Amino acid sequence: MINSCNDCGKKPGTVSAVIKGELVKGICESCYQLRVMSMYQSSAHAQYERERDVEDHAADVAQPRVAGKPNPDFIRNYPERAKDMFTEEELRLYG
Ligand SMILES: [Zn+2]
Repeated sequence: MINSCNDCGKKPGTVSAVIKGELVKGICESCYQLRVMSMYQSSAHAQYERERDVEDHAADVAQPRVAGKPNPDFIRNYPERAKDMFTEEELRLYG
């Protein structure tokens, strides 16, 4: 008798694997794929964070705000960061 998947509980949990150094037992093939994918995504994310650190350092030169107002140079140089920092209206007015 095969128990149902420990993750989703829907499919038979037939896969046991070591994922991220952790032994995972009794999950289904789909959940196994999901976990493996999320493992790769998290390492891609770590890479992204490292790149952001470099950007953060460069951003010391271009301050996000000047005299309390969004800095158009900052918005132009760091559009992705600007989206996190400013409202859409600010981006429209100063971007
Ligand atoms: Zn499952």
